[in-house]
Amino acid sequence: MRRQRKTKIIATLGPASSSPDMVEKLHLAGVDVFRLNFSHGSHEDHKERYDTIRNLEMHTGRPIGILADLQGPKIRVGTFENGPVMLEDGANFLLDMNEKPGDQTRVCLPHPQVMASLETGTRLLLDDGKLELEVIETDNKTAKCKVITGGKLSDRKGVNIPNAIVRMSPLTDKDRRDLDYALELGVDWIALSFVQRAEDLAEIKKIVAGRAGVMAKIEKPAAVENLNEIVELADALMVARGDLGVEVPIQKVPSLQKRIIRLANEAGKPVVVATQMLESMISAPVPTRAEVTDVANAIYDGTDAVMLSAESAAGEYPVEAVSTMNVIAEETECDANYRIVMDAAHAKPEATTADAISAAALQVASTIKAAAIVTYTTSGSTALRAARERGDAPVLALTPSLKTARRLALTWGLHCVRTEDAKNFADMVEKACNISFKEKFARPGERVVIMAGVPFGTPGSTNILRIAWVGEKTLSTN
Ligand code: PEP
Repeated sequence: MRRQRKTKIIATLGPASSSPDMVEKLHLAGVDVFRLNFSHGSHEDHKERYDTIRNLEMHTGRPIGILADLQGPKIRVGTFENGPVMLEDGANFLLDMNEKPGDQTRVCLPHPQVMASLETGTRLLLDDGKLELEVIETDNKTAKCKVITGGKLSDRKGVNIPNAIVRMSPLTDKDRRDLDYALELGVDWIALSFVQRAEDLAEIKKIVAGRAGVMAKIEKPAAVENLNEIVELADALMVARGDLGVEVPIQKVPSLQKRIIRLANEAGKPVVVATQMLESMISAPVPTRAEVTDVANAIYDGTDAVMLSAESAAGEYPVEAVSTMNVIAEETECDANYRIVMDAAHAKPEATTADAISAAALQVASTIKAAAIVTYTTSGSTALRAARERGDAPVLALTPSLKTARRLALTWGLHCVRTEDAKNFADMVEKACNISFKEKFARPGERVVIMAGVPFGTPGSTNILRIAWVGEKTLSTN
């Protein structure tokens, strides 16, 4: 199955989309990576979805990525004795650690580390930013607040504290259990929510130990401040616009999206734009013009992948939402302006052999109008550098590792195929030509540009650039 676009599509699975029939329809409509959202559902639910995807993968022979998204330390207030309360502007309201149900005057904030990080003047946003409190007095066990923007507050509503670095691990006990479970299942990517510092990633990377890629969700102002270090340590980034739009002034989301994408592109790490991309399709079969433009703009920004959340997990039109993303991506990438933007914006090669070969491969491919670039990759790192070039020629990534092929499913422009390593030069050329033909990237008489490393199968050894004709022999060996 050959996609007619380079941008990848991620869809979250949920009650609306988990049957084998639906997962297959979503994949056929365009999903490259499925997201298991550990904020919802039981381990059994996730295992069932995981098995469904892997069965489909076996059936289609195409590697499919699976992303486990950990809930992270979502801060919530406790419960109220007599149902929701109305907080009036200017009133006082106490946050404490008393588990007794709350009322008009107080409620429990059952997070000691959060309480300890509050200071006079700290702003707290409740219920997705609908209510705002300001701390006027605190003794680290209670926080007396003034209601800046009042409204209805009910049980367990979320709390965002944009301007405080909360000294808590981004891995709660639940996250640790979910992480162990997801790794045991064999997911390809782990997304970490509410990352604040590079150290947060160091902690999870130690546990993951290379068994999956680690994606940092950028949704906290502290993460924005520490972006360079986070990009350096993460394997991928997500512009998590849902919480980001509560934690920072909402008008800053577009420029942050562009900045995060640019830094990730420069580092050659996959980046995902998430949340409310086709929100109206939760309950309507067609999107708004603004949503179509938003998806297209994320693609013009250079994102690797666009993501569906509630649209595919709980909406009425999951398949239509994926098809819509698919056609937006196809159309956008055909625009001459898109190519101009990619050519102008792509990062310059770094002083490494892999970058030199990747840049040269693209130059050669465009000069001779090659049908495709074929890169041999073991760990996936050479393929990531080839994708970083954001070239026009399609890139086939050939790897002996199914794990690598699945992980690369997230990356812009890569069509991954699992195959044995090349044994020698002749085998390298034959495999590259055969697979380009079989996967419908090249016809007999067309040329492909091959990137490989000698000794074959040695990670980090990329040092060969070879032009090969897809010939009659290719046809006869298929
Ligand atoms: C987000 O906040 O945009 C996001 C993707 O995270 P979640 O769906 O976990 O809220």
